Amino acid sequence: MTSRQLRTSLGCLALSAVLLALMLAYDGKRFFQVLVLALPAGLCLCWPSRNARLRALQALFAGTMGLVFITDGVIRAFLLQVYGASPASALVITSLANTTLQEVSEFMAMYGANVWLSVFFVVISQSVLMASLFWWWRTPWPTLKIAGWRLVALLLLLALVLLSIAIKPWRQHHPMVFWPYWMAEVSSLREQWTDLGEQRSRLLANAKTQNPILTSEGPDTVVLLISESINRAHLSLYGYPRDTTPQLTQLQQTEAGRLGVFRHAWSVDASTIAALRNFFYLGQPESSQQHLLALASAAGYQTWWISNHYDLAIDQEHAQLAHSIHMLNKTPGRSGQSLDERTLPVLEAALQDKAPRKLIVLHLLGSHPHYQLRHPQDRMPFHNVKDQIYQGMKNQGRSTRVRGLRNDYDSSIHYHDTVVAATLDMTRRYAKKAAWVYFSDHGQEVGHAGEHVGHSSLTADGYRVPVLLWGDAIETLSSSTFSQPVRTDWLGYSVVRLLGIDWLGHEPQQDVLDLRYQWKPPSVGAVNDFRS
Ligand SMILES: [Zn+2]
Repeated sequence: MTSRQLRTSLGCLALSAVLLALMLAYDGKRFFQVLVLALPAGLCLCWPSRNARLRALQALFAGTMGLVFITDGVIRAFLLQVYGASPASALVITSLANTTLQEVSEFMAMYGANVWLSVFFVVISQSVLMASLFWWWRTPWPTLKIAGWRLVALLLLLALVLLSIAIKPWRQHHPMVFWPYWMAEVSSLREQWTDLGEQRSRLLANAKTQNPILTSEGPDTVVLLISESINRAHLSLYGYPRDTTPQLTQLQQTEAGRLGVFRHAWSVDASTIAALRNFFYLGQPESSQQHLLALASAAGYQTWWISNHYDLAIDQEHAQLAHSIHMLNKTPGRSGQSLDERTLPVLEAALQDKAPRKLIVLHLLGSHPHYQLRHPQDRMPFHNVKDQIYQGMKNQGRSTRVRGLRNDYDSSIHYHDTVVAATLDMTRRYAKKAAWVYFSDHGQEVGHAGEHVGHSSLTADGYRVPVLLWGDAIETLSSSTFSQPVRTDWLGYSVVRLLGIDWLGHEPQQDVLDLRYQWKPPSVGAVNDFRS
């Protein structure tokens, strides 16, 4: 191969690597926008310079830009693979701000292969790019005579580049603008969470301005069970062919008329922190003026927060508003096996407390990844099962890994069923006049739409959740109540009603238990089918 051929091949290879990295990370209009932002690196090499030093500077500029764009593309492609989300999404920003060092090592254990593959790609592409730039520096590409149509094309390209820099929403996609801003976002979120004491006092004061009054027909106890990563499509209670929820199905029969199952329930967030904020701030997380726990306290409820999560953000923002706080899981990260049944004795004690009005929040780990840690090791009814579901997934071309994860996930749901049913049993046993509410923060993608397994902001299963209500109040509702679609960011209004609280901020159109309820499909961008 002559040096000229070598130079051309290396140049083409480097260009392909850059394009591939960008194509993995961006599509459609965004791909075009980022390509324009990357253009100056290519254009600077067209400049016919004879000075070796100046050429070295040009090559250095192009090399640095190449590294920036390749790394950007690879990181984005990696996040898409792992989280099904872009780095700017609340899902990724909150996960990272909430991450401890321990979680980083667990993350590496789970996604190490993807990480190393990404690093390998960056190193190889960058080496090829540097080699091609070295050859360019030694023997520059033949300089094209820039005149006529070439001059026009060059001027047009330059104008496009100037435009991309001048327009702010376009410029913000430049990796050198995007990532510093992104890092500032993550660290400011972290700071916000370290002490939210002032915010809590403000929320309690705000709640008082709403004149929350207890009505005499209100219950003595409300148990609010918030689970994690439960996709209702995996509950036999909702028609899943595998018998994953025998106890809830049984309760639906024995408690007929008192246990309501919302058939079409949706979360509007695909991650825990955002979903909990949306629920507790009654669908207004941006203004965060009213908090459900603060309202209940102001109305005279004694409140409990019993959690099997280890989570700095949730502890500071929500749990600390309760009178009695039990954070049972002391292991940061999600790889510790802290089974949800450990919350049951604490719930039992709270139910026996003498306070006249009690709101008990129970925050479970549910089926959060890793699924195989969310059930006792000797209880895996779907381990290695090769039934219709398994076969169906095989026919769809799902890999063995994904099918295995589906089995693990369903086993975790089967265990979860016993915990959920136990909380309802206990509530029935101890409280005279009670209400019980159960929902999941968000759903989970387990190989429905593709090979992705985990939290998912891009598919409907990331948002598909169960919502159940139990209590005397349910008997008085019309049966059509439960065939209406519901969203968990509005559910707080119905919970305040179940608490028997009258307050100024009630929004009847968002309270599914009110006759004036009006469903509006949420706008979550990637998903637009909120019917089933
Ligand atoms: Zn979650």
